[in-house]
Amino acid sequence: MNPSPLDAKLDALVGGKTATALAKAFGMKTVGDLVGHFPRRYAKRGELTAVADVPLDENVSIVAEVLDVRSRPMRAKRGSILEVRLTDGSGGTITLTFFNQAWRERDLAPGSRGIFAGKVSRYRGTLQLAHPDYELFDDNDTGVDADSGAAMDAGMDAEAWAKQPLPLYAATSTFSSWQMAKTIALVLPTLSDLPDPLEGVLSDAERTERGLLPFVEALHLVHQPTEDLDWQRARDTLRFIEALVLQAALLERRAEARSHRATPRPAKLAGLLARFDAALPFTLTGDQQLVGDEIASDIAADIPMSRLVQGEVGSGKTLVALRAMLQVADTGGQAVLLAPTEVLAAQHLRSVERVLGAELCTLLAPTLITGQLPVAQKRAALLRAAAGQAHIVIGTHALLQDNVQFFDLGLVVIDEQHRFGVEQRHLLHAKAENVPHTLVLTATPIPRTVAMTAFGDLDVSVIRELPAGRAGITSHCVALAEHPGWMSRVWERVAEELALGRQAFVVCPAIDGATLEEDDGGAGGLSSAEGASSRRLSSAEGAYRNPESGFDTSTSLTTQPAGAPLSAVTEVLEQLRALPVLAGRRIEALHGRLSSDEKDSIMRAFADGAIDVVVATTVIEVGVDVPNASTMVVLDADRFGVSQLHQLRGRVGRGGVPGLALFVTDAEPDTVARERVEAVAATTDGFELARIDLELRSEGDVLGARQSGGRSGLRLLRVTRDGDLIAEARDIAAGILAADPGFVAHPALREAMTRRLDESERAFLDKN
Ligand code: ADP
Ligand code: MG
Repeated sequence: MNPSPLDAKLDALVGGKTATALAKAFGMKTVGDLVGHFPRRYAKRGELTAVADVPLDENVSIVAEVLDVRSRPMRAKRGSILEVRLTDGSGGTITLTFFNQAWRERDLAPGSRGIFAGKVSRYRGTLQLAHPDYELFDDNDTGVDADSGAAMDAGMDAEAWAKQPLPLYAATSTFSSWQMAKTIALVLPTLSDLPDPLEGVLSDAERTERGLLPFVEALHLVHQPTEDLDWQRARDTLRFIEALVLQAALLERRAEARSHRATPRPAKLAGLLARFDAALPFTLTGDQQLVGDEIASDIAADIPMSRLVQGEVGSGKTLVALRAMLQVADTGGQAVLLAPTEVLAAQHLRSVERVLGAELCTLLAPTLITGQLPVAQKRAALLRAAAGQAHIVIGTHALLQDNVQFFDLGLVVIDEQHRFGVEQRHLLHAKAENVPHTLVLTATPIPRTVAMTAFGDLDVSVIRELPAGRAGITSHCVALAEHPGWMSRVWERVAEELALGRQAFVVCPAIDGATLEEDDGGAGGLSSAEGASSRRLSSAEGAYRNPESGFDTSTSLTTQPAGAPLSAVTEVLEQLRALPVLAGRRIEALHGRLSSDEKDSIMRAFADGAIDVVVATTVIEVGVDVPNASTMVVLDADRFGVSQLHQLRGRVGRGGVPGLALFVTDAEPDTVARERVEAVAATTDGFELARIDLELRSEGDVLGARQSGGRSGLRLLRVTRDGDLIAEARDIAAGILAADPGFVAHPALREAMTRRLDESERAFLDKN
């Protein structure tokens, strides 16, 4: 096949200087990258909203003049907020806010005029557009930018000009929206012979019925519409293609994975698993039974299992995994359980030993392999793994090293999947003769459409039911905006719990006044769990700092720029130690700047009851089990994401002790920030929360840091809105794959899939 014009290098077409600027600002290299940079919004000159009557929560475009510009430091003392006041002479003013984009001050000098588009919000009585898109005019008199191509074409009448949608692109300091429009206009003519990925997928009649345009026409009209209908139909077409290409790629990869051979691990009638089940002091929940059966039949086959099990913390996922490990042991094989941290690996070992009981332990020899093991002990552990004597091996990423070998590795269980990427999975696969079965456990609730998009090549099982007899958890939103006095009541409540012999977590978003909890690097190129979880905080911020990511940032995490400084571990620690109600209590700090030894020893002391209160960052988020911890106070709760708050809360109320979660926030009522906190306080249903989360946040946040790093995410597709389309595309893709597994009759689709799964895309999909 001829090389596609989409793969043409940019420099030949747009000039070296522009190509370099595009590569630097957006990571673009090819024509495909460039024309895939779709406008984020379309403004119309003829339908401008007067500043005085912009409607709250709606997307507006206004033509206005910059009144003044002010830059000030952010409350976290890290980064800045740029506030730009606009007026259009209609009486009102509106403020543009940009986080950490002080460079825009140069652009937005007082007196400059332009078109500004964004979603209107209110903050402390002031109307604002957070991270609007804009295009500035050079010519103050006509509102026409002579350079930008926005000028009226000769022969175009004033009415048509006023009606023409003006595409607004995500822009940076080095590349403005109008430069983008101009550059795209240069390359569009090269695309006339581009094959259509929908060729042979839909008949002409089907295409017409759906109102889908030819691919090339859609690419033109999305960038150069003459009326609204143009870009709307273009987007529908491109969105359909995006869904189809993604699903076809995911399903093909699933088929590829299933084309390898695995060793079948059929269940045995009176084997170790049967013995284990008979001795179990409780009955499995219905969901555990169901998911257990799915896994049992998966691993009995010679097709490698790739299954994701999601379920709340404490829903019994690990138990389900352990039963699968026993089924593998029944065939003489070995299983590994990969945990994100040393603490969790050690905890898994202890609980596996406890649940198995002495006799099964002797037979299965559960063995720990971590980096911190003393040399002699490690050598013995490695030997047991290599000899096939250890049927259950539990460990951290140390398991991936070359010196770890297995006799007959049959099953890999990955706890908390997003901490391990596909590279790690492959390293483990390489240790088995046949491809081992893979089971991935996650406590993060994933709505169906997200699962289909981000995990489309895995089979997904869900455990919804919690084992009976859980003491449960009560959650409250402590709204300091209306009730500043409630803070002292929070600490009294903590003191009351401690007086009952229980323990408490206090969670802060920052380590000290100057440091947010950040990725602390992790070992050997793998992020530690702490790094991975805390990164979510910073990525959430990144989502609004960085409109270039291509996601709609208008509803992202914190639309509240001002207020008191963020609660920080070191400061809260001192405050609590000085509080009379907590006098005599042992209170310690835990955060990502401590060494892993220090963290471990604090967590261990807490688990042993030697510490009453741990003041921590999100490092405590991942699975650490302290049944006696009853209370969790989250300070500046609005700074955390919905699912993160939910995960944090999962740390308490785990045993027979009823849990109490207090989410403290100074977010104003009726703000998105406040709504998120209240939503988490209102329900403990993780799936409901995931749904709310999707509604309140943009997909960029939902699919997470994993996605926002590059241009590898979804473009026009939105998992909130496009669930039906994604499901339909999956059906169509499955039909094509069944009839034409090599996509021989669908070369254009094949090509689009390959492009979609270029290296960076693979990295993204694999990490999810
Ligand atoms: P998860 O991995 O989903 O957090 P675990 O498998 O670790 O959950 O189970 C949490 C706790 O509940 C463990 O102590 C486990 O032994 C117990 N457990 C698991 N399944 C049941 C059940 N069906 N009934 C009662 N207790 C259970
Ligand atoms: Mg678990």
